[in-house]
Amino acid sequence: MSSPGKPETVAIHAGTRIQNSRTVDLVPPLHLSAVGWFDSSDDLDASLDGRDFVYGRIRGQNAVLLEEAVAALEGAAAAAVFGSGMAALRALWDAQGFQSGDRVVMPADGYGATRALYKLLAARSGVELHALTLGAEDAPERIRTLRPRMVLAESITNPLLSVPNLPRLALAAHDVGAAFAVDGTFSSPALQRTLAQGADYALQSSTKWINGHSDATGGTVAGSAERIEPLLAARVLEGAILGPFEAWLTLRGLRTLPVRMRVHSANALAVARLLAEDSRVTRVLYPGLPSHPDHQVAASLLPSGSGGMLAFEIAGGGRDEVFRFLERVKLARPAPTLGDVATLVMHPATAAARRMTPEERAAAGITENLVRVSVGLEDAEDIARDLLQAVDAARGRR
Ligand SMILES: *Cc1c(COP(=O)(O)O)cnc(C)c1O
Repeated sequence: MSSPGKPETVAIHAGTRIQNSRTVDLVPPLHLSAVGWFDSSDDLDASLDGRDFVYGRIRGQNAVLLEEAVAALEGAAAAAVFGSGMAALRALWDAQGFQSGDRVVMPADGYGATRALYKLLAARSGVELHALTLGAEDAPERIRTLRPRMVLAESITNPLLSVPNLPRLALAAHDVGAAFAVDGTFSSPALQRTLAQGADYALQSSTKWINGHSDATGGTVAGSAERIEPLLAARVLEGAILGPFEAWLTLRGLRTLPVRMRVHSANALAVARLLAEDSRVTRVLYPGLPSHPDHQVAASLLPSGSGGMLAFEIAGGGRDEVFRFLERVKLARPAPTLGDVATLVMHPATAAARRMTPEERAAAGITENLVRVSVGLEDAEDIARDLLQAVDAARGRR
């Protein structure tokens, strides 16, 4: 029997070698080791070119598996995963190598934090930022006139659920040599492959539908190998990689994304129809309803469903009614996110559009009595019933 050794030494070195086996794990293991070591100096030397798993900031087993899955879902050659959607948007900006005087076009009706981040980055580097309503008829013409270096669009906008015509915008961007990036968070790659609709970069906040269970923050960018390689190289230096556990959870969520999106879409359409025929509610916005201004575009770009987001107004209501509504829902949850298995409700005027002035909100069509809903996987009639009883309760106390 070999001597047991000193506890300090044994505690460090026992149980550190994984036995090789011929089985393949049905579920990828959570690979937490942030560092790899080598028996052979040649192997160590070769690993430091970035192709191996030698250091967690350079490459991670769970991150790479998620990248393979995201690339496959987006119909892309490659993908890079980041610690958040914002980190992905930051990496996208950095990869363009903008110079002072360059122009960037982004949505006027897009995600507020993206607007704030790009404003900051533009101010630092002398880039001219132009916020346009990309769903407007004249958007492609304005892009051709502005001649930007990059155009960023969102697949479905927040909170009015407008669906810009991506192929038309892509043509305009490419005509003037601009890179075309699409934040597809609201539609998800299960419903809309934005690369096939002209995007050069397909971005996602995987925090939302891809993960789908609100237990991991993350961001993804997919595209050609030439577009993604620089993002991966910069990520090594900037340290924005997605951690193993977040990657593991996100991949687990992604497995059911297409199936979930089918139900989220069907539920949202059913709830939108029930709300639209109710007099306690006005202006039901859902791209899958024929009454939505972008219904035709949505039918062509999102043929298998318009997603899980909808918005409506409480008839005759204002901010007070919406605040009471948020307290009276029983099944839905007032939460400042989207894409969960549960139905989530929020008040855009005081949440996503909080930093706009009342005049800007009015001009954009974001009214005080507007409610945004991320429709969950509960029974559609249960969801509609819950929303309407809360509308009743909110209006009754006036
Ligand atoms: C949430 C969101 C983001 C930011 O993603 P995080 O994961 O929260 O950093 C970007 N774009 C859109 C459209 C979003 O909804």
